[in-house]
Amino acid sequence: MPAIRIPADLLPSDGRFGSGPSKVRPEALAALASVGTTWMGTSHRQAPVKQVVASVRRGLADLLRLPDGYEVVLGNGGATVFWDVALFGLISRRSQHLSFGEFSSKFASAVTDAPHLEAPQVITSPLGTHPQVRPDPDVDLYALTQNETSTGVAATPRRPDGVSPETGLVAVDATSAAGAVLFDPLEVDVYYFSPQKALASDGGLWLAACSPAALARVEQVAASGRWTPPTLDLGAAIDNSRKDQTLNTPALATLFLLDEQLRWLNGNGGLDWAADRCRRSSTILYSWAATSDYARPFVADPAQRSTVVGTIDLDPTVDATTVCAVLRANGVVDTDSYRKLGRNQVRVGMYPAVDPDDVEALTACIDHIASALSG
Ligand SMILES: *Cc1c(COP(=O)(O)O)cnc(C)c1O
Repeated sequence: MPAIRIPADLLPSDGRFGSGPSKVRPEALAALASVGTTWMGTSHRQAPVKQVVASVRRGLADLLRLPDGYEVVLGNGGATVFWDVALFGLISRRSQHLSFGEFSSKFASAVTDAPHLEAPQVITSPLGTHPQVRPDPDVDLYALTQNETSTGVAATPRRPDGVSPETGLVAVDATSAAGAVLFDPLEVDVYYFSPQKALASDGGLWLAACSPAALARVEQVAASGRWTPPTLDLGAAIDNSRKDQTLNTPALATLFLLDEQLRWLNGNGGLDWAADRCRRSSTILYSWAATSDYARPFVADPAQRSTVVGTIDLDPTVDATTVCAVLRANGVVDTDSYRKLGRNQVRVGMYPAVDPDDVEALTACIDHIASALSG
């Protein structure tokens, strides 16, 4: 790796641009440290932790503007585990999946391998685009992804035409979108995510906002007598969440940091404010790429470009692996493209915790490296 020193006045104030885990605000970390000995190492069954779980559930309902009757459910394991929860507790018989990147394809393959379900319908599209849903009376759950973190493609969640929530649930993987991208909750029955992306906490939990139709489906599936591993039992998670707890021990730091971030987002103006901040960051990134002579947005259709995860292809003359390594040596980390995509690309997390000025600084750092490499 070439020894390129980026001038200090070009560097961002915070060098974390990961797409997940992502930047945790220093203020939230300081708040955690300040309660360290009275929070970490205390019982999750006692009032202080339960109050934070209650605050997280309320904070999410506010931030996501959930209509009456929607409930915030949580459990251990992250969005990946929620796919298994969903294939036991939400899909009656057959699902349809829009598969357009690493994460959406993983849910589809988990369902394909499940012996108690029929083969799912899997609709794909070329990487860098998203496919369209196909309403079908044979489908009882539509699996959508609001932001494909691997490719930087965004899709607005919508109910398929003519499909009611009672017959076809809409389940949206919102892991890298929740809290940063606008959506209409009435178009969605299960809006699930992990807290270490747009919500600037640490990993380990899954959270799911569930509509009345989704809650009813969980009861129907349970009544059908399907065997379910106890840790993946969505009914049990709902019962525990209503008591502001989880089935087994959660990561207390994750809960605390999530609550801090929700208070910060709601206190600053909620989802409108967060979405606007991310739009500002992404406009900076994509405008830079559009005018650069060696960089261009990977996602061709501007309407499908993510406002939270920007994927930028570089000319072969500017090696992205080298650029990321030089950035890292200068304290600017996790700009690497999703490895399985195999492109000469940088990928930039622009969640609400990231300052738009820092995105601007990052583009200047990349320009500095590119010119040093060609010089
Ligand atoms: C990161 C991510 C996941 C996986 O989250 P984990 O917490 O690692 O299980 C799933 N879906 C999307 C869209 C993601 O970005």
